[in-house]
Amino acid sequence: MKTKFFKSNLLNITGCAVLCMFFCVPSLKAQDNAIMFDIGAMTISLLSEGEGQGGTNILIGATDEMIKKVIPDGTFPIATNAFMVELGDEILLFDAGYGQKTIDNLAVYGKKASDINAIFMTHFHGDHTGSLLINNQKSYSNATLYVSKPEYDYYMNDAEMMALPENRRSAFTGARNIFNAYKDKLVIFTPNEIERATELIPGVKSVAAYGHTPGHVGYIVESAGQKIFLWGDLAHAMAIQMPYPEVAVSYDTDPVKAIAIRQKLLKYVAENGMIVAGAHIPYPGVGEFGKQTMSNGYNFIYMCDCGGRTP
Ligand SMILES: [Zn+2]
Repeated sequence: MKTKFFKSNLLNITGCAVLCMFFCVPSLKAQDNAIMFDIGAMTISLLSEGEGQGGTNILIGATDEMIKKVIPDGTFPIATNAFMVELGDEILLFDAGYGQKTIDNLAVYGKKASDINAIFMTHFHGDHTGSLLINNQKSYSNATLYVSKPEYDYYMNDAEMMALPENRRSAFTGARNIFNAYKDKLVIFTPNEIERATELIPGVKSVAAYGHTPGHVGYIVESAGQKIFLWGDLAHAMAIQMPYPEVAVSYDTDPVKAIAIRQKLLKYVAENGMIVAGAHIPYPGVGEFGKQTMSNGYNFIYMCDCGGRTP
């Protein structure tokens, strides 16, 4: 086990500040944000798509007082990340980014798409599924794809699809194309609550975190007594949602559920001293909780890149 270091300065902002549909425009070369951390006997590597700035227009339930206190200029950094975890002989992916950039990022770490043994999806939004198919071809030829049953059922439900305006139905056809391409190695699992997290493969457990999407899940990866919680989209606006977990974002399918599960999981993770990695946590995408500083909120401490290494 190697020592980990955390930095208390709030952010290390890199990349552009352009907002797009999924709030972040990749602007970096693949290697620019490459960093890997050794935790227990595993290694977690950041597959960064870059960072941008989010605005208060996507927040739900943020009061003027909260905004003034923690994001006085009304903006906050937001990243898009996937992660590679090397656990024993397994090379695992957690989410799959926007597209080709994820595969370019793997190459920076000396890995090919065909080296990936398993891909654990937190949910099926486009900023997480992008590299699974490239030009309609399956990218990860040897990988088993893990998707939660409620997420799978949602995207296979014709009534849900037809309830949407026509221009938004492509998310459903896109997800179905992925399920079909990976059908020989598709694992549809039912996660449990975090106290009884379900083991999918040795060292990897799934955690129900419904709210952001109907089947949104997180994963706990454990090695040599240390745990990382890869929480997907449990939070988007770290600067305000850590001190005020009761703030939601407009991307949440069910903001009320998203708030409830964020409050529950943050409490559990903080009390259990887990390291956290998140799909929208700014660089380096990994951190942990410090002492509680506000009545209901948390102080998130970014892992210092001085404790990591470059490939
Ligand atoms: Zn996302």
